[in-house]
Amino acid sequence: MKVDNSQMKVLAGRYLRRDENGNVIETPEEMCWRVARCVAAAEEKFGADCKEVAEWAERFFAVMDALEFLPNSPTLINCGPAGGQLAACFVLPLADSIEKIFSTLKYTAIIHKSGGGTGFDFSRLRPKNSPVRGTGGRASGPVSFMRVFNAATEEIKQGGVRRGANIGILRADHPDIMEFIACKADEGTFRNFNLSVAATGDFFTAVERGSRWPLSFNGKVYREAEAREIFYSIARHAHASGEPGMLFIDSINRANPTPSLGQISATNPCGEQPLLPYESCNLGSINLSRLTKGTGVDWERLGLLVQLAVRFLDDVIEVNRFPLPQIAKATLRTRKIGLGVMGWADMLFKLGIPYDSGAALALAEEVMSFILQKAREASAGLARQRGPFPSWRQSVYYPELPLRNATLTTIAPTGSISAIAGTSSGIEPVYALVYSRLVLDDEKILVINKPFLQYLETEIKPESGENILKKLETGVSLQSLPAIKPEARAVFKTALEIAPDWHLKMQAAFQKYTDNAVSKTINLPANATVDEIASIFRKAYQLGLKGVTVYRTGSRSGQPLVPPHGC
Ligand code: UDP
Repeated sequence: MKVDNSQMKVLAGRYLRRDENGNVIETPEEMCWRVARCVAAAEEKFGADCKEVAEWAERFFAVMDALEFLPNSPTLINCGPAGGQLAACFVLPLADSIEKIFSTLKYTAIIHKSGGGTGFDFSRLRPKNSPVRGTGGRASGPVSFMRVFNAATEEIKQGGVRRGANIGILRADHPDIMEFIACKADEGTFRNFNLSVAATGDFFTAVERGSRWPLSFNGKVYREAEAREIFYSIARHAHASGEPGMLFIDSINRANPTPSLGQISATNPCGEQPLLPYESCNLGSINLSRLTKGTGVDWERLGLLVQLAVRFLDDVIEVNRFPLPQIAKATLRTRKIGLGVMGWADMLFKLGIPYDSGAALALAEEVMSFILQKAREASAGLARQRGPFPSWRQSVYYPELPLRNATLTTIAPTGSISAIAGTSSGIEPVYALVYSRLVLDDEKILVINKPFLQYLETEIKPESGENILKKLETGVSLQSLPAIKPEARAVFKTALEIAPDWHLKMQAAFQKYTDNAVSKTINLPANATVDEIASIFRKAYQLGLKGVTVYRTGSRSGQPLVPPHGC
């Protein structure tokens, strides 16, 4: 594996095996072999002999070693001779009793310990101050229980190297919604939680009409509020701190492949993976920056990679050691996988296509529809050999399309794996061309965007190139440098130089061909207004997205160097 210093730092910090004294005892190649062999062992269950298993391991090794495809962090970290906990995404149910809430808390700790992130819909918990039968007391409400989950998360480091991640979700019609929306207003509170308000189409209709909005629990209306007051409160808090985000729960359920197994009410922490209670999902991402060929996309290679990646991710489910029997049961029923992409912005850089252009949107649709189509073909092929996912007969795919996996595509943030691959994360534009990146909780390293460096080396005289890099390092924008031709300036734009509308359109272009959801932060300049944020939320809903997250520059102290939801 060819990695530079900054990629090696990420690998050594978290991924490579260490001895009992903390010394790294594994090379990146050995890591790829460890993962490849662990995953390929699944092939044996489907009749492969030793030689064939070894051949699959070689194929899996080759695409990881070439940084063309990487699975989510838990797979890279936990794969061993006897499998491991390999999934990043979990959703756990919350029911309205102390016993059940604290059982879920225990499950959360177990999942965090193994490197997974957890999402919860708190809407099933009775509102604050409702009577508690048996004790004569008053309920403390969803926000107060969220505090307990936050505190527990604080103490459990994932695999000893990172803290767990959570998302807390509350429906817009829960009586405690206003308290929930405001609960991260004090910086530092709920720092282990992302927040999202689950909104239905009815909620948006009420906002448009300016209607009253009933706040209810278990069919009982507690009081009415102005729908617009709730909506603008979400926008105001998102303006102030980036949170809460919004989940469009009707769009999510329209795409639910197994509605007869239940409605979906929550996602994993970064929002890209809607799941039923106790379901888990393992993700993997193809590095698009490695898939240009001349002035276009290497479609043939991309097709092969998708086919191999689907098989890899399905094999992961076979060797996965699920942290709880309920999780094994729910996951094995639907066998959801989430194949996505990283390095999209870098691909556009290499092809000379501006992110904020119709050409980029058209290519996004072309790339993602191709991936979805090839992924479906691959999953259908696996279904023929291994059988369709067990609840296929209860799914929207029955009877026409037997698939091995109920969902195939997801666009993950790829916060860590894109750093290993040395490319831009997910489908995000680059945050800066030269920047320091937070690699572990407190360590920063300087990173220069690779396609941009390549451009400087080929198009600009070496001494001017050096100067340009120095200027960028101090925060000067490339847009203000006359040495760079206007066409190149149009291509090498950073997240904040791209208008929010283009961020949204790009998210929508990928969402169109993504079974699950798309992780994306809509970056806004410091002077963006609350109304602009409200308008982004409306547009995101109208575009049929499954959720939206915004971040206004400077709205949190200790401005993150990567978008906040990039983990
Ligand atoms: N995740 C987590 N803790 C983290 C980062 C990620 O639990 O610190 C989970 C979470 O479910 C998130 C998912 O992993 O939505 C994917 O995140 P990302 O793509 O950034 O993970 P990577 O594989 O790059 O580490």
